[in-house]
Amino acid sequence: MFNREDYVSDSKWQSFLDLSKDFATPNIFIDLSTIKERFLQLKKSFPYADFYFAVKSNPGNPVIKMLDELGSNFDIASRYELDQVLSLGISPEKLSYGNTIKKARDVEYFYSKGVRMFATDSKEDLKNIAKYAPGSKVYVRILVENSSTADWPLSRKFGCHPDMAYDLLVQARDSGLIPFGISFHPGSQQRDIGSWNDAIAKTKYLFESLEEEENIKLSMINMGGGFPAHYIQPTNDLSDYASEIYRYLHDDFGDKIPSIIFEPGRSLVGDSGILTTEIVLISRKNNTALQRWIYLDAGKFNGLIETLDESIKYPIITDKDGGKEGEVILAGPTCDSADIMYEDLKYRLPTDLKPGDKLYWLSTGAYTSSYASVNFNGFPPIKTYYITERGIEDPAGNIVKEK
Ligand SMILES: *Cc1c(COP(=O)(O)O)cnc(C)c1O
Repeated sequence: MFNREDYVSDSKWQSFLDLSKDFATPNIFIDLSTIKERFLQLKKSFPYADFYFAVKSNPGNPVIKMLDELGSNFDIASRYELDQVLSLGISPEKLSYGNTIKKARDVEYFYSKGVRMFATDSKEDLKNIAKYAPGSKVYVRILVENSSTADWPLSRKFGCHPDMAYDLLVQARDSGLIPFGISFHPGSQQRDIGSWNDAIAKTKYLFESLEEEENIKLSMINMGGGFPAHYIQPTNDLSDYASEIYRYLHDDFGDKIPSIIFEPGRSLVGDSGILTTEIVLISRKNNTALQRWIYLDAGKFNGLIETLDESIKYPIITDKDGGKEGEVILAGPTCDSADIMYEDLKYRLPTDLKPGDKLYWLSTGAYTSSYASVNFNGFPPIKTYYITERGIEDPAGNIVKEK
């Protein structure tokens, strides 16, 4: 059904097969060289910007260490991520506390560890920042509406109306903080580039009105994530995102473009992963049923949660591709009937598949292992391995197998 070469080059595929063959399924192999390529591509596409890797998308130490060496900063969402990143020797100056939902004592903790940049979208939270992180930079996250064109929307829960953002930035200044800028997230896997235009226009209005009416000079726009990974549905190239976004910025800000931050997650790590599952059982619900149910050893609770509502559509390949295919329903191993990955979307897989055969889920480097449940039905969280220059490493960065 899918052409593997469209997603993974021959050499990477061969090396993956060699390295992964002795490992029990289910597992995820992350190829660091792909993440490096994507990071360099981002830097080239947006030479004027700074990057804060959204750690939640793939929090493996090997990933964080490599991105640190490449010059990335980090978007941190919890004290646990903070501890992890600091334990790798990364400077707190490279960190931004991007979660608008946080406890007062978490703000205090981040401040005590040296973090001086905070996101907010509410009065209560801003009060906590003023009290427990005095003098810090704050940026306010605004709501953006175009969530219907993102495959994994992130709006509604985060952000506030621009009028409120205005008030918050005034409140920030009045409470001794540095009103630093505006942030938004256009929705993850955002396939409509126009979404950035609307958001940048709102940002421009805030920059202008705050300067005119309050003499507050903002200096930064944080555009969040949203750039796509390579799944089934077509997307524009990153270079199209880059040229359009630059044009929007230029239209609104002329030659005085503020400093720009991106917080890539999915676009950076998504294409680096291959999730391997083994077929547990194949059945039909009726003697004459046309569709096969294929049950796998990975499902919604151990790696494939983004198939919720069939939102993220991963390409899947097998060792038997190329022959006759038939429609399948793909489900996971647990006793929960929500544990069905694709039913409406009809995947077609080889008719000669048998229990014990492998299914390779491509582009599974983002939001897979980090979203897995701990022990539902006793199934352990899916194991992740990192293909690095040293060999294969576990998430803590220990070598599992030398090259
Ligand atoms: C999750 C998240 C990101 C990453 O988004 P992607 O679409 O995966 O690139 C960036 N910023 C914030 C604040 C986030 O919550």
